[in-house]
Amino acid sequence: MKIRIDKAGCVGNARCAAVSEELFPLDDEGYIAIERIDVPPGKEDLARRGARACPERVIEIVEDDS
Ligand code: SF4
Repeated sequence: MKIRIDKAGCVGNARCAAVSEELFPLDDEGYIAIERIDVPPGKEDLARRGARACPERVIEIVEDDS
């Protein structure tokens, strides 16, 4: 599983980081710091919850990149 984020659409409300700071690190100004990340094993539910938490819907879960 991967997470893809449209950084340009981030408004910096940190809802994602409140779910998981590991999966959704923020930059110094409180915006999402990454555009993609491989989800470590066992963190899939956190990734989905973080994506749902984003009111801007800029977090996309990619279940399988094959
Ligand atoms: S929840 Fe969405 S809008 Fe808010 S900081 Fe995270 S990516 Fe940005």
